[in-house]
Amino acid sequence: MVNQFVQERREQMISSLQELLRIESTKGHPVPGGPFGEGPAKALTYMLSFAESWGLRTKNLDGYCGYVEYGDTDEYIAVLSHLDVVPAGDGWTYPPFDATIVNGKVYARGAIDDKGPAMSTLWSLIALKELGVKPKRKIRLIFGLDEESEWKCMDYYFRYEPKPLGGFTPDAHFPLIYAEKGLATLRIEVPADAESMAAQVLQFSGGERFNVVPDRAVATIDCHSETAAQEYGVKLRKAIRDLQLNAHIELEESRLSIVIEGKSAHASRPETGVNAILRMAQLLSGGTVSNSSMWRTVSAWDVSGRALGIDGADEDTGPLTMALTKAELREDVFQFFINIRFPVTHNVEQIVETAKTYLPDKWHVSLVEHLAPLRVDPDSPVVAELMKVYRSFFDDDLGPETTGGATYARTIPNAVAFGALFPGKSGLAHEPDEYWELDDYLTCIEIYAEAMTRLANSL
Ligand SMILES: [Zn+2]
Repeated sequence: MVNQFVQERREQMISSLQELLRIESTKGHPVPGGPFGEGPAKALTYMLSFAESWGLRTKNLDGYCGYVEYGDTDEYIAVLSHLDVVPAGDGWTYPPFDATIVNGKVYARGAIDDKGPAMSTLWSLIALKELGVKPKRKIRLIFGLDEESEWKCMDYYFRYEPKPLGGFTPDAHFPLIYAEKGLATLRIEVPADAESMAAQVLQFSGGERFNVVPDRAVATIDCHSETAAQEYGVKLRKAIRDLQLNAHIELEESRLSIVIEGKSAHASRPETGVNAILRMAQLLSGGTVSNSSMWRTVSAWDVSGRALGIDGADEDTGPLTMALTKAELREDVFQFFINIRFPVTHNVEQIVETAKTYLPDKWHVSLVEHLAPLRVDPDSPVVAELMKVYRSFFDDDLGPETTGGATYARTIPNAVAFGALFPGKSGLAHEPDEYWELDDYLTCIEIYAEAMTRLANSL
C-alpha cells in the first residue's frame, strides 16, 4: 500500500526534499524563536507546516526542537532525526544548498545527514495517515536542531515531554546499530613560550567543529627580520615538498603566512580525512618556531590515541579513535581540542587521567563534552522487530552493527539507529558533495512506514 502511495506522489516527495535541503540550516546566532539561529528555525517551520498541510498534529518547542505526531495514545514510540547541518566547507562540485539532482542523486549538505532521512520519515507518517493505518500506539517524529553541536534540543525536549517507549533514529546506516562508542572531547591548553629568540607564532587556527576533521589550518609567524623570514620560507617550502603537504606560503616583510589544506571527514572515521591541523604541527615541528617541543608532541597525535596512552579496542565496538579537530592560539595560550570515540567497555575518567599522565605537567587537560556509550541488547524486541523490517526489504545476511558515531538513540530507552544509508553505500556525510540516491530516499519512506507500524504495535 505504501509502495503505491510512494509511486503516486514521487514528484512531490522529491520536490519537498529539495525545498528542505535548500534551507541553509547551519547553526547560527540566536534569533527570536530560533536559539540555534535562523536556518535551523526555518527548517523546522518548513517541516511542521508541511505536516500540518496533511492534517498532522505538530508542536514547536520554542525553536529548540519540534514534533509531528499521529495517533491518540499517551504512550508513544519516537523517531528522532535532526534538521541542523554542519557547515558546507570547500570543495563542492555542486552548490551545497541548491539540491541539484544529477543521475538520480540529490547533492546537498544534509542530504543524507540528516534532512533527507528526516523528510522520508515525515512522508512515512503522512502515508500511514492517508492510508488509514491505525497502529496501537502513537507515533511521534521528533526533529532536533542542535544535533551537530551540543544536543541542547534534546535536553530541552525531555524537560517538557515524557520519554517514549522506544524507537529509532534514521541517522546512520542499515541494517541497524545496537552499540555506539562513547564520545569525549578534551581541551588541551599549552602556554605560548613568551621570551623566545625563535620565530614567534602570532596567529594559529584550524577546524570549526569538534566532530569534523579539519580541512584547513592557518598560521602567521614573525621571524623578526626579513632575511630570517626568507630563510625560513625556503626551509618550509622544502618541508612542504618532503611531507607532500597541500600548503601555501606568503611572505610579507618579517612575517610568513601559512595555509594548509586537508580533507574533511566525520570525526568518528578520522582515518578517511586529511587533518590540516596535524599537518601544520608536522610542518612547525622542524625547530625554527617557538614551542617546538609542543609542535613535535602534537604532530604525533594520530587516530590511534597511542600518543596519549589511550589506545585500545573491544569486541563490540572496535578500536578507540581520536582526531585533533580544532585548535587556536588565544591570549598566549595554544588550545587543542581532541575528539575521542571510545569502546563501550572503556570509561571517560580513565581516558582523561591517562592523557594527563602522558602530557607535560604544564599542559592543562579538561573535558569539554562527553557522551556515555550506548548498548542495546541485540536480542531485545526493538532490534528483533527492526531486523524483520530490514529483511523484508534487503536480500542479504547482514546483522546488527556498532558505530563510532553518536546518534539520538542514546537519548531514549530501547532505541537504535536504523538507516538511512543503504549497506555498502557512501553518502559523504560531513564531506564535500554529500548526496543521497533518490531511489533509496523513496524506498526509505516504505521501510520507515513499516518500522513505525511494527514498533507502535509491539513495544
Ligand atoms: Zn546526523
